[in-house]
Amino acid sequence: MARVTKSKTKQAPVLLWFRRDLRLTDQDAVAAAAESGAPVIPVFILDDSDRKPQRAIGGAARWWLHHSLESLAGSLDKLGSPLILRRGDAVETILALVQETGAEAIHTGFMPDPGDRATDKAIAEALERQDCRLHRHRTALLHDPHKIKTQTGNPFRVFTPFSKAFEAQVHVRPPAPAPKHLIPSTQTKSDKLADWELLPTIPWDKGMAEEWTPGEAGAGVRLADFVADAVNDYEKGRDIPGDAGTSRLSPHLHWGEISPWQVWEVVGEAKGHGGVATYRRELIWREFAAHLLWHFPQITDQPLRPEFAEFPWREDHAGETAWQRGQTGIPIVDAGMRELWALGWMHNRVRMIVASLLVKHLLIPWKDGENWFWDTLVDADLAANCVNWQWVAGCGADAAPFFRIFNPVLQGKKFDPSGRYVRDWVPELAKLPDAYIHEPWTAPEAVLRAAGVRLGVTYPMPVVDLAAGRARALAALKQATGRG
Ligand code: FAD
Repeated sequence: MARVTKSKTKQAPVLLWFRRDLRLTDQDAVAAAAESGAPVIPVFILDDSDRKPQRAIGGAARWWLHHSLESLAGSLDKLGSPLILRRGDAVETILALVQETGAEAIHTGFMPDPGDRATDKAIAEALERQDCRLHRHRTALLHDPHKIKTQTGNPFRVFTPFSKAFEAQVHVRPPAPAPKHLIPSTQTKSDKLADWELLPTIPWDKGMAEEWTPGEAGAGVRLADFVADAVNDYEKGRDIPGDAGTSRLSPHLHWGEISPWQVWEVVGEAKGHGGVATYRRELIWREFAAHLLWHFPQITDQPLRPEFAEFPWREDHAGETAWQRGQTGIPIVDAGMRELWALGWMHNRVRMIVASLLVKHLLIPWKDGENWFWDTLVDADLAANCVNWQWVAGCGADAAPFFRIFNPVLQGKKFDPSGRYVRDWVPELAKLPDAYIHEPWTAPEAVLRAAGVRLGVTYPMPVVDLAAGRARALAALKQATGRG
């Protein structure tokens, strides 16, 4: 394709390449493109090529992306510069766009994922001999993941010292407003969003559509609601899956529909300030996950702790399918897995419980669970997902030791004492008294009958005996590491 020659009268445009930063407010790539004074071509590329280490977006996240792009396109139309959609290998697509448009600069967000980093490197190298520069801005994180180091210049592996170093180094900056106008460029060809077929063909998204409003405006409403209703009780409320005690901002943060600085700042304005420090610590966990992914990109597939490389995982197709479908016979686990399927989201406490059951009681590889989450979460995030799965499996940085095995019944009783969460998601158990809601297999026959529960018929028997599963997990740990 012939490169467009830059005319003396017409200013060369800049490409504003959106990635997981689909917003206009407090978005440094947007601000830089606007301030360049050049015509702006906003673009989003759907890279579903099989170039490694790129990872294709999962099903629930594709649903989110469709709606988020619709919202961003609407906002950009109002600013005068329509969003251009292109599909294909991101390196080839960006280089082709530079040729086509004669762009003199590319403004984009800097992402910690290995696939994005490889893409950027290839683009920067290809542009070396051209009249166009790649400018990467921090749009997704509070801080650059590689800039926080231990005193000896190494990456952190433990959260608390990371968090202290983070707070010492990071300067709070007020969020910047969205530009009022972008200078439009001459027309550039765009795909039609509908042709990308991001929406599921089976009617799987009803619950997601009811729960979420993807896009910058939806993110703002979610944050405002959280600050008004829940942040002060966050310290306690965040552990109760039956309450709306957490912000549910994770998909908005993952897709960059709201900047983490905005969230950091706005929660600080809450009346009472009760849970602000605890909440901000969760935002720092998000940074820590990005820091780990940056320094140890192998964590997407390999355990960070080498002693887990030969762990004796089991293949258990039936157990894994029961887990995916929310049919394990362990109520809190089934509630979580059904919430995940319905909403594309699961409460953090329950994520830990279901992950623990999979990797410990069932001894199924953490990577299988990570893959399932990747496909079903609207907030599926490479860093957070891999780091948290490895944390639960005991093979990651600062991980919960493998020998600490969650008992899902006790977890249920502690964090869902009245069974409200279980009753919501496992309605076939709704009539069981509180005393048996987390362990129906211990209920007397008459109690089960009165509640309309027939174990093995209306609700499964447990897929694993919890005591035996625990013992088997500890034996596996001993075999792999000599500890137990
Ligand atoms: P809030 O409690 O309101 O927290 C605020 C924000 O802090 C979250 O939106 C999120 O961005 C961040 N955050 C909170 N906890 C963590 C954490 N442990 N690690 C990293 N960031 C955190 N989170 C994802 O965003 N994407 C994932 O793919 C993901 N996979 C997970 C897998 C497992 C096995 C586990 C145990 C946790 C996973 N998490 C993941 C972390 C956490 O469960 C979610 O971020 C949280 O439940 C989102 O709900 P919220 O927005 O209401 O969280």
